[in-house]
Amino acid sequence: MSKKIVVLAEVREGALRNVSFEAIAAGKKIADGGEVVSVLIGDNVSSLGQELFAFGADKVITVENDKLKQYSSDGYSQALLAVIEAEKPEGLVFGHTALGKDLSPRIASRLKSGLVSDVTVIEEDGGETVFVRPIYSGKAFEKKIITDGLVFVTIRPNNIDPLPKEEGKSGEVTSLNVNITDLRTIIKDVVRKATDGVDLSEAKVIVAGGRGVKSESGFEPLKELADLLGGAVGASRGACDAEYCDYSLQIGQTGKVVTPDLYIACGLSGAIQHMAGMSNSKVIVAINKDPEANIFKVADYGIVGDLFEVVPLLIEEFKKIKA
Ligand code: FAD
Repeated sequence: MSKKIVVLAEVREGALRNVSFEAIAAGKKIADGGEVVSVLIGDNVSSLGQELFAFGADKVITVENDKLKQYSSDGYSQALLAVIEAEKPEGLVFGHTALGKDLSPRIASRLKSGLVSDVTVIEEDGGETVFVRPIYSGKAFEKKIITDGLVFVTIRPNNIDPLPKEEGKSGEVTSLNVNITDLRTIIKDVVRKATDGVDLSEAKVIVAGGRGVKSESGFEPLKELADLLGGAVGASRGACDAEYCDYSLQIGQTGKVVTPDLYIACGLSGAIQHMAGMSNSKVIVAINKDPEANIFKVADYGIVGDLFEVVPLLIEEFKKIKA
């Protein structure tokens, strides 16, 4: 049965995050021929609305207010609940991002709804929409069917492909006026840590280093390889604990969960807690001088060798291909 689905668009530094388009594609699958309404919340965000139409949204609603310039749980909850009240959707889709993970349970509890979080696959089975999500740190998958109430899900970034962009597809962006009151937290400014390049959680290629990288400067060849491939640098907790890099790069159970197209693991052993954050990567290449290293168990391609010899060779070869 066709449904109306509200999907939340996310904006970072003035641009739509890719997960916004993935959420529209997920919304389309759930809507089953129904309507997908993309919601943009913030201050001065309506100019981004046309891109949401190009990626498949049937309707775009903006809630703009200077109190929504920065994300706050109270402000965004009020804005989104007003949209839900106006649209009366049968389902909601958010990204399983820091914002989505904070906001979705609040909205679910306000609506007295269940929530299926961290969905990686949406499939059809006998007329039912089935939501697949990893459990036990990615060692197993469970399949859920929502039989009653709102179809409310968060989707893991980089797992559901956005629909192809239809250049020139446009529509009318509808604005909803919402009186934002009683903010318990007012964020005056956000100072982002200077990072060079691609956001780790949305990167298509990740070159990750472990304790085998041996020092901060040991990460330089990894950075060079990542830059060459248009990717980002990640790390094991071993490397972060040893102060070779910042904890913001940590991948794993207590770090970021990533699903790039290509994950190049350099000098990391493949501890279960690390694999919880990267084992769903599409192609895994492991470089380790220990042929018994655990990481080879999940690798599609394994190179037994010293990373300080192998990584420069890869850089040389990729430079030739790019030349
Ligand atoms: P090591 O296990 O020391 O491995 C280093 C590897 O480098 C070895 O395999 C070695 O053969 C190889 N090597 C050395 N020199 C070279 C060289 N020159 N060339 C090629 N290979 C070389 N870990 C995470 O990563 N993420 C998490 O989120 C996380 N969460 C945790 C949560 C809990 C509750 C606990 C208890 C632990 C957690 N850990 C996490 C830590 C995890 O258990 C491991 O200790 C950690 O991942 C090990 O990091 P590593 O692989 O870099 O180091």
